[in-house]
Amino acid sequence: MSTPTPTLRLPAVDRVLSAPALQALTAEHGGHATTEAVRATLEALRPAALAGQLAPAQIEPAALADAVAQRLAARFAPRLKAVFNLTGTVLHTNLGRALLPDAAVQAVVQALTTPANLEFDLATGGRGDRDDLVNDLLRELTGAEAATVVNNNAAGVLLTLNALASRKEVVVSRGELVEIGGAFRIPDIMARAGAKLVEVGTTNRTHAKDYAEAITDRTALLMKVHCSNYAVTGFTKSVPEAEVAAIAHARGLPLAVDLGSGTLVDLAQWGLPHEATVRETIEAGADLVTFSGDKLLGGPQAGLIVGRQDLIAKIKKNPLKRALRVGKLTLAALEPVLRLYLAPDLLPQRLTTLRLFTRAPAQMRAQADALRPPLQAALGSGYTASSAPMFSQIGSGALPVDNLPSHGLCIAPASPRRAGRALARLEAALRSLPRPVIGRIASDALWLDLRCLEASDEAAFTGQLPQLAEALAQA
Ligand SMILES: *Cc1c(COP(=O)(O)O)cnc(C)c1O
Repeated sequence: MSTPTPTLRLPAVDRVLSAPALQALTAEHGGHATTEAVRATLEALRPAALAGQLAPAQIEPAALADAVAQRLAARFAPRLKAVFNLTGTVLHTNLGRALLPDAAVQAVVQALTTPANLEFDLATGGRGDRDDLVNDLLRELTGAEAATVVNNNAAGVLLTLNALASRKEVVVSRGELVEIGGAFRIPDIMARAGAKLVEVGTTNRTHAKDYAEAITDRTALLMKVHCSNYAVTGFTKSVPEAEVAAIAHARGLPLAVDLGSGTLVDLAQWGLPHEATVRETIEAGADLVTFSGDKLLGGPQAGLIVGRQDLIAKIKKNPLKRALRVGKLTLAALEPVLRLYLAPDLLPQRLTTLRLFTRAPAQMRAQADALRPPLQAALGSGYTASSAPMFSQIGSGALPVDNLPSHGLCIAPASPRRAGRALARLEAALRSLPRPVIGRIASDALWLDLRCLEASDEAAFTGQLPQLAEALAQA
């Protein structure tokens, strides 16, 4: 038992601020924030001081400086943090989707710090169009006549429908009225765009005649939507793009296709599942195709709209285009990513997402074998870590039923008693690290898929293991 402490008088704010340690904090964080932090620190100590529960050491200049420094550090800590994505989902929407290649990073840094010809025609000295920065590349890579870029694919679909089908009807199969994560629902977007949805077919089967019979003089366009994050299997029928295009064209109407992920190259050449490319969709007769920049394309968040010149011109004239346009950082990142596609054979080395998709399971197995012993040491006797095969997913709705063979670490509680709680504690400890580690809980274990842990990040991962041990000891 310590002797009762008499009520202490807290030092004045000014006196605390004049201590040398505080002057260093003022130099780093500014006078305003530091004064506020001193005030808040003293305020937090006041009840204990009044109750006589404060030791003199707690109000020594060094102790106060520590407390103030902690407050300032918390206040100035970034909320957007680097994490380790060991979920096994490469394009994880909640973790920021595609990681960009170096070429894009350099271009973004330059655009951030240097004036650029964003809307300035260097040939004439007149005003330019920001879409022109990527228009030629997109035309070459997709075979489309023209292109425009907006904030994301949801914006692309909204803008397309508003520009071409406001107060008119759009025919869509019931099997394609999808909801993409984050409340993108085709019927809702249609309503917001001012278009009237005409559903045809049934959930599992839609026939060519369903489209043909739904066309009236109020129809503006026919639309097909990639099912993305779900698969329709069993007794099913859908009408291929080419057939829907023929039906639309016979009545003088355009076909718009929301491809979702929209890849520019055939992924099958690298042993990945085939996904219809934008070029194939245009060749099949689609008059407009919309797709995301940060899914399979591997670029920044953006919505790309490619297709017929006259339709793109109409879309670009719509007032919503101005509201949905992309900024210079997006274009700076998008242009070099698109240019990588001009050398498709080098893509697996140069395009970060493709490099991750095509990593060999043996590579991840070697990593897992090397990381297992230090991880086990940090986990202690409460958990057992093993090197284990597992399956990664491409993510973001691309190829939802296809899994990529991978390898990683599987951590199970050593005892079946309260295993659920032990797993939750481990998951929280991993999340609390300076660079949080995000895994996946399944089958009574926590799985860390190493597909997205590249060699350059391994040291940062193992460097945190002492903190993991500490966090587990405290939990
Ligand atoms: C992902 C997706 C969208 C939304 O794209 P964002 O770029 O996230 O706005 C729309 N339609 C389909 C079919 C998708 O897969």
